[in-house]
Amino acid sequence: MIQNERPSLADSLWSATANPAPPRPALKGDVETDTVVIGGGFTGLSAALHLAEAGQSVILLEAETPGWGASGRNGGQVNPGLKANPAETEARFGADLGRRMVALSGGAGKLVFDLIRKHQIACDAQNCGWIRSATNARTLAGLQAAGRQWRERDHDVADISAAEMASLLGTDVYVGGLIDRRGGNIHPLNYALGLAAAAEKAGARLYGDSRVTKVNGTPDQVTVTTSSGTATAKRALICTNAYTGDLTQPLGQTVVPVTSVQVATEPLSENVAKSILPEGHSPTDTRRLIFYFRKDAAGRFIMGGRGALGDGGILRRQAALRAAARKLYPQIGEVAWPFAWGGNVAMTRDHTPGLHRIAPNVVAALGYNGRGVGMATAMGTVLAKWAQSRPVAKLDFPMTPARPIPFHRFRQIGVGATVASFRILDRLGL
Ligand SMILES: Cc1cc2nc3c(=O)[nH]c(=O)nc-3n(C[C@H](O)[C@H](O)[C@H](O)COP(=O)(O)OP(=O)(O)OC[C@H]3O[C@@H](n4cnc5c(N)ncnc54)[C@H](O)[C@@H]3O)c2cc1C
Repeated sequence: MIQNERPSLADSLWSATANPAPPRPALKGDVETDTVVIGGGFTGLSAALHLAEAGQSVILLEAETPGWGASGRNGGQVNPGLKANPAETEARFGADLGRRMVALSGGAGKLVFDLIRKHQIACDAQNCGWIRSATNARTLAGLQAAGRQWRERDHDVADISAAEMASLLGTDVYVGGLIDRRGGNIHPLNYALGLAAAAEKAGARLYGDSRVTKVNGTPDQVTVTTSSGTATAKRALICTNAYTGDLTQPLGQTVVPVTSVQVATEPLSENVAKSILPEGHSPTDTRRLIFYFRKDAAGRFIMGGRGALGDGGILRRQAALRAAARKLYPQIGEVAWPFAWGGNVAMTRDHTPGLHRIAPNVVAALGYNGRGVGMATAMGTVLAKWAQSRPVAKLDFPMTPARPIPFHRFRQIGVGATVASFRILDRLGL
């Protein structure tokens, strides 16, 4: 169970199968450090690890426990790249920066698997490729264009025919798609716990139960406050993503938190398990309200998709996912579904993550639009470089002021209306 989470989102397979982790008690008293990191998901843990390895003193403050947020709850799909295709990113950000952004995001899968190998993180990592499966000819053409662009840049992304897709997935409902061999899947919470252990081993000090309530910066230093202590540092990195809330405004208003939910079966019988995703892939389809699905290391089937705002809606979405899974793979039959959980994804207005300067010595990174396993890990390396005084122009991601999304207060109405219209278009197969 995810502690301190509402029941409809708490019954997580990843928490139930997590590796043991040491207690990380709250910060007590006043401490000093080079860099203070706020938030212990992939972004903050990757930044803390890379900074500690570079010899800085680092303190990480996490409101709950490392991996408590989206990082410990997600689908575990290592899906490289930004939402925008490489050519679009290069056109928008210019040849030099655009190319570096493409290299950073396209290399994010390799970074994840390299870190797992280097730090020997036990998280069922499978670098078997990330499959994107098209529901119709229009979305197939879009995927094929994306694949061509990556190949032109020497990335290992290949087209898959409808027949190949059927054999890799064990279902023939998709018309073809892509296999992105840079990606794959992991046990996300165990990856987060492994990053936390590696950061500590490198010298970072991690505190749980330490919600930061205030960030006060002067040009020379920054002090962050929790209910039981303060950390004074040369700089602060805010890595709170969809859980930023009111910590500093307008940061929280640069993203819209959207709930994504998952359900998982008990381990399937061997015969059924090998008829579904026989090579262990984790596909994402091209519906507007995507389905993503996979098995875990024990052969449980996991199905994920868009959630809802209230508990009733969340429970209905989880029931709909169970029904969708049975439709996709009727052989699942009347199996038990002991797990149902979810968390918040941070969406940005332009589907590009945000790297924002909040004050001269305070920077935040967030808004991975559901692609944070790779990208949040990669953004942690960008934050670490900034914290080691790399000039902003030399970072591989643009640093921009935090601009609130207009009418942010009314965001849930907007999300609700968009989701409803997308659901209709998906049902019509458009
Ligand atoms: C259900 C679900 C499925 C997903 N599936 C995938 C997937 O398959 N592949 C993929 O690439 N991405 C996926 N994502 C997105 C991915 O999980 C996120 O992009 C990524 O984990 C973001 O990492 P993060 O470190 O920025 O944020 P988080 O992991 O959310 O971490 C933020 C942390 O900050 C802490 N915090 C907040 N406020 C404070 C404070 N004031 N003081 C101290 N700490 C604070 C929170 O407790 C939290 O632990 C999914 C997300 C969800 C929710």
